[in-house]
Amino acid sequence: MHHFIYNALPARVVFGSGTQAQVTQELKNLGCCKALVLTTPQQVDQGHVVEDLLGDLCVGLYTRATMHTPTHITDDAVKAAQELKADCIVAVGGGSTIGLGKAIALHTDLPQIVIPTTYAGSEATPIIGQTENGVKTTQKTLKVLPEVIIYDVDLTLTLPPKMSVTSGINAIAHAVEALYSQDANPVTNLLAQEGIKSIASALPVIIQEKDTALLLKARSDALYGAWACGTCLGAVGMSLHHKLCHTLGGTFDLPHAETHTVILPHAIAYNTPFAADAIAKAALSLGVRNAAQGIYDLAKELGAPCSLKELGMKEEDLEGAADIAVRSPYSNPVPLEREKLLKLLRDAWAGTRPE
Ligand code: NAD
Repeated sequence: MHHFIYNALPARVVFGSGTQAQVTQELKNLGCCKALVLTTPQQVDQGHVVEDLLGDLCVGLYTRATMHTPTHITDDAVKAAQELKADCIVAVGGGSTIGLGKAIALHTDLPQIVIPTTYAGSEATPIIGQTENGVKTTQKTLKVLPEVIIYDVDLTLTLPPKMSVTSGINAIAHAVEALYSQDANPVTNLLAQEGIKSIASALPVIIQEKDTALLLKARSDALYGAWACGTCLGAVGMSLHHKLCHTLGGTFDLPHAETHTVILPHAIAYNTPFAADAIAKAALSLGVRNAAQGIYDLAKELGAPCSLKELGMKEEDLEGAADIAVRSPYSNPVPLEREKLLKLLRDAWAGTRPE
């Protein structure tokens, strides 16, 4: 007997190679003519390309997007958008740049076109995380959901291989937690399995392949998987893994995708006895018998970090992290116990392979 609730989010998705050239048409479809383009300082060149494509339809390029969406940058960007009389946002980049676009939309209601260049998945979610005075908070509102997503595989070719691996595993984490989410439903189950399979098979090729055509195909598979996994993140609630990563990123300032990569095998191992069917689906998509070990081995073989120690976490902070993680109750296949969580964190800190 099937029982489920599924809420579809409105989204227009354009996917392919060379698709960023369609940005002008997408802007016109929204009835806009004054775009403010956003990038990080590292992706200014990609911003200039979009600026050139838009020509007179672009009123400015704002290049100060930063990880964790600090509110002082948002305030500055909102001021720039207002002074330039922008009527829409075009964000070109990863979760940090898309996060800034969402923050501007939250203040101004401007429509957003986003051109993702990592696999983080923020483009497909109504979730925004913001940092003020070192405290990161998240909220969920349709006000921040981008109106149009343009996935252009070509823009992901410059994503460094190591970052591609951690970003890809970040995306897989959305899908794994969607499979055992309390909101799991047939649509996200199918997307999750497709996303995991697509990314897990693409990452080794991205790291090892020299042939341009095969590399482009793998990049396409990885971005396609990121769309599928990001759609899961936007549609259903997440559990233990995402909450732990939020704590480690927000309170201990650990890097986003790398933290997801280190924690995921241990979060899966924690939940496996209590979500066996869902995790068996993840294992099948990964092509392994044990999903926790499969993710750990994938990360290790591809040279990604496998321990919190490598990411700069101090061993003496593990107790504090466990305290914060148990303080706010949230949905998970099994209730969280402080001592078990602390063991999870110790294993992740040391980088041991899950049993
Ligand atoms: P990022 O956006 O911070 O990118 C990391 C670095 O890589 C940046 O310097 C960026 O300019 C560079 N980069 C990105 N794409 C590149 C490319 N193709 N070529 C060369 N350089 C490139 O990293 P991220 O992991 O995509 O995003 C992390 C942020 O996104 C965090 O703040 C996280 O909280 C947020 N996030 C939010 C959601 C959500 O639903 N709200 C979902 C996922 C992530």
